[in-house]
Amino acid sequence: MKFVDEFRDPEVITRTAEEIRRLADPGRHYRLMEVCGGHTHAIYRFGLKDILPPNIELIHGPGCPVCVLPMGRIDDGLELGRRPEVIFTAFGDMMRVPGAHGSPLEHKAAGMDVRIVYSPTDALKLARAHPDRHVMFFAIGFETTAPSTALTLMRAKAEGLRNFSVFCNHVTIIPAIRAILDSPDMRLNAFIGPGHVSTVIGCRPYQWIARDEGKPIVVSGFEPLDLLQSIVMLLRQLAEGRSEVENQYTRVVPWEGNRAALAALAEVFQLRPYFEWRGLGFISQSALRIREEYAAWDAERVFDMAGVRVTDPKAAQCGEVLKGVLKPVQCKLFGKECTPERPVGALMVSSEGSCAAYYNYEHRKAAASLPVLV
Ligand code: SF4
Repeated sequence: MKFVDEFRDPEVITRTAEEIRRLADPGRHYRLMEVCGGHTHAIYRFGLKDILPPNIELIHGPGCPVCVLPMGRIDDGLELGRRPEVIFTAFGDMMRVPGAHGSPLEHKAAGMDVRIVYSPTDALKLARAHPDRHVMFFAIGFETTAPSTALTLMRAKAEGLRNFSVFCNHVTIIPAIRAILDSPDMRLNAFIGPGHVSTVIGCRPYQWIARDEGKPIVVSGFEPLDLLQSIVMLLRQLAEGRSEVENQYTRVVPWEGNRAALAALAEVFQLRPYFEWRGLGFISQSALRIREEYAAWDAERVFDMAGVRVTDPKAAQCGEVLKGVLKPVQCKLFGKECTPERPVGALMVSSEGSCAAYYNYEHRKAAASLPVLV
């Protein structure tokens, strides 16, 4: 199977769905967590939930890096952007994420120099083009995007480019999964493992989940058949009483990960002792900070950062949704005060946010099926 169409073949999907129904024990309720926000979007975009038996419940995990970022970090970055010499750069995904006093896009509308970049090297190019300004890159993401930040910092150091810095908000996936498993209100049977992160870290770091926690995990791709096949693999493990790490996404994910990317991460970053996650609180060794050797390009050292802490609006239940305790529609603000047009939480605007997935696919589908009143 090489081409996208083959991963969306209706006949094969029908056969795989039948296999899922055959494997799912009707006397059992299965709670499977898809860790990655990209999986959540694929599940709703392709309507996969509708072809699963009702006793298979998909729980959305914390694998959306924009969503887990606490509001205070956004405010810290924007505070820095207020300096007249600074150009604030970030991925487009960040632009509508609300801080306590507005999103980066709203700050841009108010006159701040905010620019969307498609990679950290675009930010580096801006720094070369504007030697009289300071270009700050608001870095965000799991191990998937952190290597490109690392390589950019290595390039900046090699060139001696001093008007460039990174505000590092990179987080790591394994401690988040551990926090989910330690959460007393979370009962899960198995995990659909994140595909993107695993292209870098490989499958080995998940082995403790199977060995110590007794939970099967299958690293999955993002096409409909990838996800359905991963569910088949999980149900087989559960039926046979096995708990192993399996790799469904072998066409992309090497078991040992990407050695070059891991080497770049080790060169530039070290683990922070702790980091605050929205919804999960402080988690030890769960985020990356820039090593001393690259301190001259670390925005947190170059500038005096306030280290703002902001609590989410009281009625917002982003934390519970991020932990998988509540479904997005169960948040009191969903579809009312909080919509993609007027988001209260990042989960409603990020391309990997579960509230955005529900709103764009489920909520609109339900609204479209309502009878028209005349
Ligand atoms: S609906 Fe809005 S406030 Fe509620 S959990 Fe989702 S993003 Fe947060």
